[in-house]
Amino acid sequence: MHPQTHAIHAGRRIDPTTKAVAPPIVLSTTFEHAPDSSYEQFLYSRYDNPNRAALEECVAGMENGAAGIAFASGMAAIMAVIHGLQSGDHVLAPADCYFAVRRQLTELYAGWGLQASFVDMSNLDAVRAAMQTNTRLVWTETPSNPGVFLTDIAAVAEIAHTAGAICVCDNTWATPLLQKPLDLGCDIVMHSTTKYLAGHSDVLGGILVLKERGAIFERLKVYQKVAGAVPSPFDCWLVLRSISTLPQRMAAHCDNAEKIAQFLAAHPNIEKVHYPGLAENRFHELAKRQMARFGGMLSVEVAGGWDAAIAVCGKVKLFTCATSLGAVESLIEHRASVEGPESPTPRGLLRLSVGLEHYEDLIADLAQALE
Ligand SMILES: *Cc1c(COP(=O)(O)O)cnc(C)c1O
Repeated sequence: MHPQTHAIHAGRRIDPTTKAVAPPIVLSTTFEHAPDSSYEQFLYSRYDNPNRAALEECVAGMENGAAGIAFASGMAAIMAVIHGLQSGDHVLAPADCYFAVRRQLTELYAGWGLQASFVDMSNLDAVRAAMQTNTRLVWTETPSNPGVFLTDIAAVAEIAHTAGAICVCDNTWATPLLQKPLDLGCDIVMHSTTKYLAGHSDVLGGILVLKERGAIFERLKVYQKVAGAVPSPFDCWLVLRSISTLPQRMAAHCDNAEKIAQFLAAHPNIEKVHYPGLAENRFHELAKRQMARFGGMLSVEVAGGWDAAIAVCGKVKLFTCATSLGAVESLIEHRASVEGPESPTPRGLLRLSVGLEHYEDLIADLAQALE
C-alpha cells in the first residue's frame, strides 16, 4: 500500500455491530471473559484496548516495524526504553537533543546508577570515540531539536551494533513519511505523537515501534502494561484520526518550510538558518540520502542575540509564540529561555514550526517582525 492509503486504512475496519465507518471510542475499562474464563485480546484497558491497538497497528506499519507500543506522552515512551537498562549501563545520546531527554538521563536516572554522555552525533569519529564497554543504548534524534542537526542513522546504528548496543531513533521531527529509521538499521523508533502525527496541538501521546517481536518487545510490553503510562482511548482515537491526513500535511509543511527557509537565509537580520533543505546547509547531502523531504522545522539565529530574538517573538502576529511543534498553526519559540541556564542552545536561536497557513502570509509576518 502507498503511505496515503495506509494512513487512512491501517488499523481501521467497519465496526461489526453498528457498521460505523469512523471507529467507535471504546471507553470500557474491562472486557467480559469467555465462559471458561479465558479472554482473546482485551482484558483490562491498561493492558490493551481497541483504540490503542488500532493506533499501534497503523504506526507500526508506517514505520515498516513489527509492532507498536503506545504511551501517554513521548517522554513516557522514552522512559520505557531507558527503564530497560541496568544500573552501571551507559547511554550515548546526542549533544543536541530534546531537552527533557537530557533531563531524564541526567536528573532522573543518574541516581539509579545509569551513566550517560552526550556527543555531537553528526561527527561519526566522535561517536566511535564516545562508545564505552558498558554502552547498551545509542539514542539518536534526527533532525534534532532545536539545532536541526542530522545524524547518519545507518552509520550510527552500525557503530552501536558493533559494540553490542541497541540503536533507537527519535523520529518525531521527520515522521515515517520522510524517514524510516528501522529500514536504516535502528532497533526501535520513537515518536512524540503529540507533534506531527496528531498535528493539531490538542492531544499528548508517544509511541515506540519495534523492528522485531523479540525479547526487547516483550519487556517493553510488560513495562507498558505494568508501569501504566498508557494513553486514553480518546487520545488514541484523536491521533489515529489525524494520521489520516499526515501524508498531505507533511507535504504542505515541507513546501512552506522550504520557502520560509529561503526567505530567512536572504534576510540581513538573520545570521544563520538551520534547515537541511538549503543547498549550503552542511547536512544537505545526508538529508537527500536519508530523508524523502526536508521537513517542516527550522531554526534561525537572529543578529543581536538574546534580546533581538525575544523582540521578534513579541512582534509576530500570525506565528504564535508558544512551545511544541508539528501542528497546523505556525509556532515560534526562543528555546534558550525555555530550557533555562543549563541549556547549550545558542542565545539568539528561534525555533520555527512551520504550519499550513499560506506561505506568503507567513513570510509577510516574519518580514514585519524582523524589521
Ligand atoms: C515533544 C518531543 C518529545 C517529548 O514528547 P512529549 O509528547 O512532549 O512527551 C520528544 N522528542 C522530541 C523530538 C519532541 O519534539
